[in-house]
Amino acid sequence: MNNIVERINQLKKEKNAVILAHYYQRPEIQDIADYIGDSLELSRIAQKSEADIIVFCGVRFMAETAKILNPTKKVLHPNPESGCPMADMATVEGVKKLKEQHPDAVVVSYINTNADVKTVSDIIVTSRNAVKVVKSLDANKIIFVPDQFLGSYVAKQVPEKEFILWKGFCPPHFNLSKDTLLALKKQYPDAKIAVHPECNTDTVEIADFVGSTTQIIEYATTCEADTVIIGTEVGIHHYLKKKNPNKTYVFPQAADYCGSVHCCDMKKNTLDKVLEVLEKETNEVILDEDTIQKARVPLEKMLAIV
Ligand code: SF4
Repeated sequence: MNNIVERINQLKKEKNAVILAHYYQRPEIQDIADYIGDSLELSRIAQKSEADIIVFCGVRFMAETAKILNPTKKVLHPNPESGCPMADMATVEGVKKLKEQHPDAVVVSYINTNADVKTVSDIIVTSRNAVKVVKSLDANKIIFVPDQFLGSYVAKQVPEKEFILWKGFCPPHFNLSKDTLLALKKQYPDAKIAVHPECNTDTVEIADFVGSTTQIIEYATTCEADTVIIGTEVGIHHYLKKKNPNKTYVFPQAADYCGSVHCCDMKKNTLDKVLEVLEKETNEVILDEDTIQKARVPLEKMLAIV
């Protein structure tokens, strides 16, 4: 492994490349990354990057977002099979149909959408800024795509607006039940529960804290409780331990991952694949000019607000 890491670091220097990794990536990938973050942080870093090559360790829509925001760069995705099942639940045709049915509504799409869906969206949000962005809009009617649970969570914080929710969901977060968390709370009665708003509504309702991945990391590492039960993807354990090793972070676990929050797609990027794309410059993210232009508009609208 040391040889692989050395070779990756050498190639990064030789090729003026930068490695961006999402918090849900494997620990060994987080350890070689130049930047680790959530979708919003990584978008901003990608947009401003002066590297010639961006190796994006995340799922496909994230690598696409980097290309859209900084199109002159070569963006490499270590494993093109690493997609997001929730992003794949939304379609351009479906969004257009909803727009026709609700011509006075604004299409607010979660950043977890494929590039083509972004082209028919009015503005993009992340789980961190969704409430703020939606509140800032003039429209009173919102078509929220694709996560029905994040959409419901936002709708509760912004009751003055009407929401039409796409029926998509994140399978790993959806699988985390309220009962699983309550069972852990019995084991750790003094613990606080922090969950991601992609979890289903019942689960969100029993949490002490609801927030994006970065907000959960902030909360878990700084709150008064010594133990925090974490209702999001297990990949953040590595980062939490580095940031504050003095606390105990409890993740719902199961041998077959059923009942735990484990995103198989996020784990499809490996060190071997990072090395391979750096060596051969394969798996480049290619988007046509029209898609880049159109998808950039709603992304930049979001970045101008937050
Ligand atoms: S954790 Fe959920 S939303 Fe994130 S990439 Fe995996 S399936 Fe998609």
